[in-house]
Amino acid sequence: MDCIFCKIAAGEIPSQKVYEDDLIYAFRDINPQAPVHILVIPKEHIASSASEIDADNSHIIGRVFEAIAKIAKQEGLESGFRVINNCGEDGGQTVGHIHFHLLGGTKLRPQML
Ligand code: 5GP
Ligand code: ZN
Repeated sequence: MDCIFCKIAAGEIPSQKVYEDDLIYAFRDINPQAPVHILVIPKEHIASSASEIDADNSHIIGRVFEAIAKIAKQEGLESGFRVINNCGEDGGQTVGHIHFHLLGGTKLRPQML
């Protein structure tokens, strides 16, 4: 499969890694929208988007959020942060490997939420 985030997780495309464990990889977004903008992904291509989360793979999404809590501490985001998942065309998703944006390092504008 020709998936850019699979290649990043495998080290075939360089990235600025901030966290890695057996299931999860996290790296800095190439086009940051906040002082801290990190993408947190399952290493394996378990789902193209959030619409493919099911009973077989949801435990890995739980591990994504465990990683997010660790990364937030590592990055000094004790006063808060935002996690965003864009799903599908209407959701503004541009890369078809499920991923979560971790944003922080400033008081984020309310925008939609
Ligand atoms: P989406 O729009 O799918 O929710 O988010 C995709 C994100 O991936 C965007 O914020 C974009 O800047 C980021 N991105 C796309 N290609 C690369 C890349 O090659 N390296 C890194 N670090 N980020 C990327
Ligand atoms: Zn992938």
